[in-house]
Amino acid sequence: MDRISWVDYQARLAAGPVLFLPCGALEQHGPHLPLGVDAMLAADIACRVAAAVGGLVAPPLNYGYKSQARCGGGQTFPGTASLDGEHLIGVVRDIIREFARHGVERLVLVDGHYENQWFLTEAIETAVRELAPGHPLKIVRTEYWEFCPQSVLDDIFENGFPGFALEHAALIETSMMLALRPELVAMDKLPDDGPAAFPVHDCYPQDGRGVPPSGVLASAVGASAAKGEKIVAAICSRMAEALQKEFFA
Ligand code: ZN
Ligand code: MN
Repeated sequence: MDRISWVDYQARLAAGPVLFLPCGALEQHGPHLPLGVDAMLAADIACRVAAAVGGLVAPPLNYGYKSQARCGGGQTFPGTASLDGEHLIGVVRDIIREFARHGVERLVLVDGHYENQWFLTEAIETAVRELAPGHPLKIVRTEYWEFCPQSVLDDIFENGFPGFALEHAALIETSMMLALRPELVAMDKLPDDGPAAFPVHDCYPQDGRGVPPSGVLASAVGASAAKGEKIVAAICSRMAEALQKEFFA
C-alpha cells in the first residue's frame, strides 16, 4: 500500500480487495535473530496470502505491547521497545478508522506478536462501535501461527512441541526467518537454551527471572529453511482458504 499512489490505491479499492495490517513488535529474539522478527514474519505472510486472495498489504506496525517473560522474554533486554496498551489500542483504532473512511470493506489484522492479542481485539471492538450503522467493513483478527496444522508441528518437532508461547525465537521463528529473510539470521550464534521453566504466575516489576540469558525460550537447534518453508506454506494456504470463506463465500 505504501508503494503505490493514492490514485492507484483508490482504483484498487474499487475491486473490493482484502487489506492486510501486519502487527509486530520491536523485541529481542535471541542473539541470532533481528529485533523486528514479529513484524517481518507477519508482513511476509500477509504479502504471500494477499497474492493468493487478491489483497493489498499496509505497512506493518513495528511496535507492540510489552514483552512478557513467559512468551517473549520480557522487558529486561536492550532493544525491546514496547507500547502501553492504551497507545497500541489507540494507534490501531485510528488506522482502522482511516481504512473505513477510504471505503475498505475487508480488513485482516495479522498478529505476529503474542502479547498484542487483546489490545488488537479492543482496538477492533471500539473502532467497529464507532462505525455508522450498516457500514460494510468486516474485520478478521488472527495470530498467524494458529494456522499451522498439528501435522506440520508433529513433523518438525521430533521431541514434542513445547507450545507457541515458548516458541519465542526458537525453532519455528528461526526456521521461518531462514525461509523468508535468511540474510538476517546469524546461524553461528544459534542458541540451544531451554525450554525455559516458568512458574504459572507472573511477578511485577519484571525481573527477568526464569528467562534464559540468550532470550530464547526453547532451543532453536535444528532450525532450517526447509522447515520454515513448510511452516510458511501451510500457514499461508490455510489462512488464504479461511479468508476466502470469510470474505467471498
Ligand atoms: Zn517473535
Ligand atoms: Mn513477540
